[in-house]
Amino acid sequence: MDFKFTPEEEAFRQEVLQFVKEEMPPDYGAGGESQFDAGNFEFARQMARKLGAKKWLAMNWPEEYGGLGVSPIKHMIFKEESAYHRVPGTDMGVGGISWVGPTLLLLGTEEQKKEHLPPLAAGERWWCTMYSEPEAGSDMAALQCRAVAHGDEYIVNGQKVWTSAGHIADWGWLLVRTDPEAPKHRGISLLLVDMKTPGITIRPLINLAGHHYFNEIFFDDVHVPKANLIGEENRGWYHSMIALSFERTLGIEIAADARRSLDDLIEFAKQTTINGKPLGKDPLIKQRLAQLAIEVDAARVLGYRVIWQQTKGEIPGVEGAMIKAFGSELLQRVANVGTQMMGLYGQLSLGSKQAFLNGRAADMYLSANDMTIAAGTSEIQRNIIAQRGLGLPKV
Ligand SMILES: Cc1cc2nc3c(=O)[nH]c(=O)nc-3n(C[C@H](O)[C@H](O)[C@H](O)COP(=O)(O)OP(=O)(O)OC[C@H]3O[C@@H](n4cnc5c(N)ncnc54)[C@H](O)[C@@H]3O)c2cc1C
Repeated sequence: MDFKFTPEEEAFRQEVLQFVKEEMPPDYGAGGESQFDAGNFEFARQMARKLGAKKWLAMNWPEEYGGLGVSPIKHMIFKEESAYHRVPGTDMGVGGISWVGPTLLLLGTEEQKKEHLPPLAAGERWWCTMYSEPEAGSDMAALQCRAVAHGDEYIVNGQKVWTSAGHIADWGWLLVRTDPEAPKHRGISLLLVDMKTPGITIRPLINLAGHHYFNEIFFDDVHVPKANLIGEENRGWYHSMIALSFERTLGIEIAADARRSLDDLIEFAKQTTINGKPLGKDPLIKQRLAQLAIEVDAARVLGYRVIWQQTKGEIPGVEGAMIKAFGSELLQRVANVGTQMMGLYGQLSLGSKQAFLNGRAADMYLSANDMTIAAGTSEIQRNIIAQRGLGLPKV
């Protein structure tokens, strides 16, 4: 196995690093603050536009839709470096670049692709994803949000929840029930919704770490043109499974995020003395950092495998579930080690003068809980691996 990148790919990595050096404030995101928090979003928007102007955001898409037609490997280098350096705006909301665009490329009509892909690739149009409901999470097919056909429109009524980036999104990727009489997986459709449509109400949900990241969203007689249906009516469950497979390829970003946090902790251990003891000399801390280094490398390779599959035109299923489960749990282990290394200081957050690393360890400790739930819980990922990967029977 040869993991070497080509000279052209290495040169591109240097170009991305140069961009980061010129454009990113050195402390941005150091305390773990969210790009969707009110004070941060304008910067995220500016960065997305700059990246869009360089055509890096969706560089693996065809040129006619705003990409550069390059290999997924080159795009992966961009994603890896931007995640490591905490560049905001690279996914254009949550999922715009990672799964709305790729799924549209596979299933969208020509009109839908022309309408939505170029503004996404240009960093101009932000997206949210609306699958979950109060009574439909892991069992997504239990969803009740209803769309009734009326002339050339659907009329949508119901509620969605945990909608990441819903408060800043221009457009939404919405799963609705179109046939309540059909078996539950066969009566669902996927729609594109302009989030400014009358009848949509968005209420903030503040997460454990105090960030405004997700929302609950209410639909009250919302008119959606039938031209916004993705694929076939009542086939939305199967279409959303494709989108979810793309969503779980976010492992490469998770691995880069874990590597960056670990590098920060290693630097911190080298430079810090607590109660007269240099942290880097503590044998237990050395053991734990070394263990994390092994796991971070394993996560990176799992992430590379998923992108390599994409270069062959495969949609990663089991492999995406593996990196999602492993990477999100790794982030929690990194956060645990970080807070434990700092002792009581590990509880201090951004804004505290005594906080180490701008309070990042505390923020990460709280925020990392999200990652084993979002995009399907770790238990659901393991079900996918067991059933589809290992051939074990469904319960
Ligand atoms: C940070 C974050 C961002 C999110 N963003 C979005 C978003 O943008 N759009 C969106 O639609 N949703 C979003 N979600 C919602 C997320 O997809 C759901 O929370 C998730 O699918 C779990 O659903 P639930 O919360 O209803 O938990 P439940 O499904 O009620 O699960 C409760 C517990 O039971 C376990 N469980 C359930 N079923 C099984 C099973 N069959 N086998 C084994 N264990 C099982 C689960 O693993 C979990 O531990 C987000 C969630 C988070 C945390």
